[in-house]
Amino acid sequence: MRALRFHGPRRLDLEDVPEPTPGDGDAIVALSACGVCGSDLHFLDGTARTRYVPITLGHEIAGVVRHPGVSGLAAGTAVVVMAGTHCGSCRRCGEGRFNLCELMEVIGIHRDGGLADLVAVPGSALVPIPAGLTPLDAATAVDAGATAYHAVIRSAALAAGETVVVIGVGGLGGYAVQMARNQGAAVVVAADVDAAALARATALGADETVLIEPDTSVGRRVKMLTDGGVDVALEFVGRAASVDAAIKSLRPGGRAIAVGVGVEPLVTLPPVLWSNNEYQLRGSYGSLPGDTEAVLAGLAAGSLIAPPTRVVALQDAAPAILDLSTGVPASGGGRLVVTP
Ligand SMILES: [Zn+2]
Ligand SMILES: [Zn+2]
Repeated sequence: MRALRFHGPRRLDLEDVPEPTPGDGDAIVALSACGVCGSDLHFLDGTARTRYVPITLGHEIAGVVRHPGVSGLAAGTAVVVMAGTHCGSCRRCGEGRFNLCELMEVIGIHRDGGLADLVAVPGSALVPIPAGLTPLDAATAVDAGATAYHAVIRSAALAAGETVVVIGVGGLGGYAVQMARNQGAAVVVAADVDAAALARATALGADETVLIEPDTSVGRRVKMLTDGGVDVALEFVGRAASVDAAIKSLRPGGRAIAVGVGVEPLVTLPPVLWSNNEYQLRGSYGSLPGDTEAVLAGLAAGSLIAPPTRVVALQDAAPAILDLSTGVPASGGGRLVVTP
């Protein structure tokens, strides 16, 4: 079969490899669509590492069950694959924090992923795609959708009537805007460096937008728009400056949620302002069982709209993904999704 094999920074090749043999309980899934994520680009630009090389990348997988493993699903069922596996028996799993499992493996990072004709995954990772939903839209639910859902609904515990700013309104942030809206947020502010992303956020339900330019004080703008600051600031960029902006957007007692992945050290408000205002900052990682299902149900019901996608065939995917990793602007934009 064909697989996109990652050999190290800048080295991604389409290769013929043996078909996967299922391990204990594993299912085999045939590719329908697999999204390319920001973290895949970080492997290619050398700022992040997979567990081993060569490895098949791809962790936003939609496909068709070829071999059911322990999933109990019939062969031919359309499914998505939850990216993070969990052991079920470590201390974190015992607390129900499966996304922090001490033995977690992410498909396409710690074991071979979905940018291939076939992939072997734990049968427990399969979630059926509701009728009427395309594999392209469903694939975005796994990572972008479920991570945003976990951040908005669980980590922020956003309540009706609260005010929100979403900083970074790409795939994840676009989902977050809609989830905040659906939760009954009183005001949703979207902030981004990209005017087109802000226009899309407005179409998805953002009430106000802040275009971030080099001299923009995001916090001050958000405080002006929301009568003194937001209850919840969600950060999906992973830059020190945008986490700082999230904190500076809060009203006293507000909470900032850092979702974006980055490596810059954070420099922000002095301790006196944290204690005097009881600001909170927490991280949010991945998703829990049930989150992916909730996003798929929202997509099927029309209460959520998937991000726009740009399709490339597996045959042509390596140069397209390498271009993305070096910042070559995507013609037409949208999330890159690989199909057979
Ligand atoms: Zn990802
Ligand atoms: Zn565990």
